[in-house]
Amino acid sequence: MASAPDDSFDQAAAAAIAEAQSWLEAHPVTPDTDRKAWLRELVDSGWSAPSWPVEEYGRGLAPKVARATDQVFRPTDLTGWGQDVTNLWAATITTWARPELKQEMLRDLLLGEVDMCLLYSEPGAGSDLASVQTRAERDGDEWIVNGQKVWTSSGRQADYGFLISRTDSSQPKHRGMTFFLIPMKQPGVEVRPLRQATGDSRFNEVFLTDARVADANMLGDLNGGWHVLTSALAYERSVMGVTQKRKKQSAEVVRDLTSEKSAPVPDLSLIELATERGVVGDSGIRQDLMRLHSWRTVNAWNNQRGKAALSKGTSSPVVSLGKLAMSRMLHFGGSLQAEILGSEAMLGGEDHPDGADATYAMLNAFFTSIGGGTDQIQRNIIGERILGLPKEPEVDKGVPFSEVRISG
Ligand SMILES: Cc1cc2nc3c(=O)[nH]c(=O)nc-3n(C[C@H](O)[C@H](O)[C@H](O)COP(=O)(O)OP(=O)(O)OC[C@H]3O[C@@H](n4cnc5c(N)ncnc54)[C@H](O)[C@@H]3O)c2cc1C
Repeated sequence: MASAPDDSFDQAAAAAIAEAQSWLEAHPVTPDTDRKAWLRELVDSGWSAPSWPVEEYGRGLAPKVARATDQVFRPTDLTGWGQDVTNLWAATITTWARPELKQEMLRDLLLGEVDMCLLYSEPGAGSDLASVQTRAERDGDEWIVNGQKVWTSSGRQADYGFLISRTDSSQPKHRGMTFFLIPMKQPGVEVRPLRQATGDSRFNEVFLTDARVADANMLGDLNGGWHVLTSALAYERSVMGVTQKRKKQSAEVVRDLTSEKSAPVPDLSLIELATERGVVGDSGIRQDLMRLHSWRTVNAWNNQRGKAALSKGTSSPVVSLGKLAMSRMLHFGGSLQAEILGSEAMLGGEDHPDGADATYAMLNAFFTSIGGGTDQIQRNIIGERILGLPKEPEVDKGVPFSEVRISG
């Protein structure tokens, strides 16, 4: 039986969907459309981030109602919508920046005209980000920053970075940190590329030597950076989940493994590879294909749980399950790809593109099992916040950071 609150939600959602549809009809996209100009109209209309306040490029819709309007944009090949859940940068600025900084940055971030990076990890602070040693010291209306960051994705292109820095070492390590939006193109910022096992070079080391950031670019409160950081990390985890889900939805193919009857399949490209290599009838391979399919199916259900919690305005630890599941699926999928190829998986280079692909898939799976919080850290989160297990012992709890023994 429908309750009164559901009725009002249904009405609000139906009205918002109708509005989004009529906006889309009034702004059709054809092959001749200037996509950048279209995106500007989308952003200025508030439909790129409908759950945000109107004065912050939103439409002031309740999060759940805003998500209902995704169905208008999802079937199109358009991008730029749903940024209230996919744009980590803009979402963090909306939540924590001062009004002037929001005015300065939000529109450009939604238009994708600013390149950003995350200056969190350091040689001695990765999983335990509360151990950061990069210091920021006040100098009038500015802060002077010294330290080293590492694993900085997109650091070379970035115009700005989200920086977590230590501003008061006399406080315990989770306090005394401050979060800034720091300009990257300045003399005190040196970005050095790193090379990964895959051969790619997506990370950098960043050396900050008397780099400067305006006090007006502080996000959240002085010495309150941990709150900003944890909220930005939660956004990052949910963005990973939503982005993977959208990719999956757009790539969804319906085909049956054994008959002409249509049914969802685990991974069409792996089935095609197994068919091509004559091993699709192998019972072990078939079992692994179905295992992957089962994990994906269960993960999709968990994503729905996470999304339902988010739409009610609560941050959900269930998204940690999604990230962990994605990591397991990518590692398993890479190994399965190699299993299908057999000994060819050991070959690489231009003469053996399938072998090179399998190697890449296996190595690149670490991207997800380390980036944005390792699998072990996700398990800690799940243990503590979902299963209610006791917290890990914290030997440095309450101890001033200046007295904590640190590595690195
Ligand atoms: C694809 C990718 C992109 C990244 N992008 C960025 C970026 O843009 N900006 C940025 O700042 N960083 C970035 N990182 C860094 C990433 O956040 C860190 O690598 C990650 O947090 C782990 O930190 P660490 O490498 O220092 O490992 P450590 O924290 O030293 O961990 C080493 C090992 O110990 C385990 N471990 C540590 N603590 C615990 C614990 N309490 N319980 C159980 N096990 C534990 C870890 O799981 C890991 O296996 C990126 C990494 C990757 C792979």
